[in-house]
Amino acid sequence: MTAEAQEKTPRNVLVTGGNRGIGLAIARAFVAGGDNVIITQRSGEPPEGLTAVRCEVTDSASVDAAFTEAEQVFGGPVEVLVANAGITKDTLLMRMTDEEFDSVIDTNLAGSFRCARRAATGMIRKRRGRIVLISSVVGLYGSPGQTNYAASKAGLVGLARSISRELGGRGITANVVAPGFIDTEMTAVLPDDQKKAYLANIPAGRFATPEEVASVVRFVASDDAAYITGAVIPVDGGLGMGH
Ligand code: NDP
Repeated sequence: MTAEAQEKTPRNVLVTGGNRGIGLAIARAFVAGGDNVIITQRSGEPPEGLTAVRCEVTDSASVDAAFTEAEQVFGGPVEVLVANAGITKDTLLMRMTDEEFDSVIDTNLAGSFRCARRAATGMIRKRRGRIVLISSVVGLYGSPGQTNYAASKAGLVGLARSISRELGGRGITANVVAPGFIDTEMTAVLPDDQKKAYLANIPAGRFATPEEVASVVRFVASDDAAYITGAVIPVDGGLGMGH
């Protein structure tokens, strides 16, 4: 923990899908900043040094139980929610099944809604809170083969902005962080020619690390970002500029 971190009061932070990828980097960044962190995961053992609760974001009862357990461990409400859990089921529009569309919306958009709704209860009582929704550059940029995913990620913008308008007066902010292409298991499966095509359009000329997303999430959740709400913050090396 840094000296700066020690001076601040630790917050209770819940990161959904914090067992791997971007979520894990976010969880580790909050731990390094001196906060109390709980991650959600669906199976297996938690990564070293982290506390986990089980949570299936497509199930409201599971979300409720995860928050209740987290609140017991924290001894108080969740003050920072990072809704990070997400999936892709890519295929072209004409081939996409209802199940492929619905399940991605249910996980990425409705899952974030369920977590934000549950988190808001404690935040309203405390008159303080940070809700950070992990979207994607493709939410506003669009992406062939990802109509379900892009729609789910665009929906997070309306979700965050409506929460901002509902709860802004209670010390609660809701923002969207929109990563570009990040080196994780999700992008490892992309074909090489598709990766090359993306790289050609990224002004930064490279993919990002999960840690580069995590540091922005931490800032948005900090006291210094108290006047930022309803914002879409890109972490995309310039890929989505102007969108
Ligand atoms: P990963 O595939 O590495 O991890 C996804 C996480 O979400 C896992 O922890 C997974 O849990 C969890 N999850 C998935 N479905 C559910 C569910 N129904 N209930 C609870 N948890 C669930 O993804 P990334 O780290 O790459 O991505 C994290 C977020 O960032 C996602 O929202 C993604 O859309 C977004 N993003 C990623 C980009 C990238 O380039 N990688 C770019 C832009 C946005 P489990 O381990 O149990 O499967």
